[in-house]
Amino acid sequence: HKRELNKLKKTAATTADGINIELSANIESAEDIKALHAVGADGVGLFRSEFLYLNRDTLPTEDEQYEVYSGIVKKMKGKPLTIRTVDLGVDKNPRWFGQNATPNGSLNPALGLTGIRLCLAEPVMFRTQMRAILRAAAHGPVRLMWPMITSVSEVRQCHVHLETAQKQLAERGETFGDISAGCMIEIPSAALTVGSILKLVDFISIGTNDLIQYVLSVDRGDDAVSHLYQPSHPAVLKMVQHIIKTANRMEKSVSVCGEMAGDTTFTRLLLGMGLRRFSMNPNNLLAVKNIVLQSDTAKLEDAAAKILRNEDPEKSEKLFKQLNLITG
Ligand code: PEP
Ligand code: MG
Repeated sequence: HKRELNKLKKTAATTADGINIELSANIESAEDIKALHAVGADGVGLFRSEFLYLNRDTLPTEDEQYEVYSGIVKKMKGKPLTIRTVDLGVDKNPRWFGQNATPNGSLNPALGLTGIRLCLAEPVMFRTQMRAILRAAAHGPVRLMWPMITSVSEVRQCHVHLETAQKQLAERGETFGDISAGCMIEIPSAALTVGSILKLVDFISIGTNDLIQYVLSVDRGDDAVSHLYQPSHPAVLKMVQHIIKTANRMEKSVSVCGEMAGDTTFTRLLLGMGLRRFSMNPNNLLAVKNIVLQSDTAKLEDAAAKILRNEDPEKSEKLFKQLNLITG
């Protein structure tokens, strides 16, 4: 089966009814680019920049980050690279946090000073990373993505810091490129106010891993409740649908970059919901492409709508089976 899938590497991801689907990869370091090209991904939909910040006593400098980001941009050979600003909680690495370090750890790290909250609390760190990203953008198409946004106010603050970073580079006479700026939608408050957020960004990407955690109130890393972590829970699906519909109506770019994007169980549902951009672990990309090729989006819309009307998690599986049996 794997050999069959490998033949799809150069096949365009076009549905049976002729719609082009963008299939990008999630990466965590420069080494992952090889896997991306091996499956013919359209770009990087999510570069998790955390590794640069982990297991060290000091923050990475602007130059150090610029070297890494520009190295990856060059390896992308003109395909777009989406760099997410650092998405860490203070509990993960208190060594280099000054006053924001919590010596006893946060009581509830997933609800604490994580993601963009931490960046906004450490503006020097935040702008340093964005300057490195802006400089890397001089070498190819780069998109900047802010994680864990809860509201338009945070997006506005991000833009102010981004403008400052651009001003600082201009004052230094440094070369930097144009970027598009977007954010992750992975917290319910952002999902429910996504229309306002979309007015302030060029694109959004749905982080289903965290969205599921926060919608269902289930810690994504806690084995004791892993049976309750249900991507197919009707509440999760309704929220994902709302985000995709709103973005499509506003003609703004929307993708899914959580695990759901690389899970073939959900490929057809997401297509039926109107999703046209997926970003996933490169290992899953050809299997997803295989489904895309055999899907007729027009036929999937009704089946997706039927799933969206269901509110009983126990009925989800049967409805998914029906949807995945529709021939393209
Ligand atoms: C997500 O939350 O779905 C996501 C893609 O980000 P991460 O898994 O890095 O939190
Ligand atoms: Mg996340």
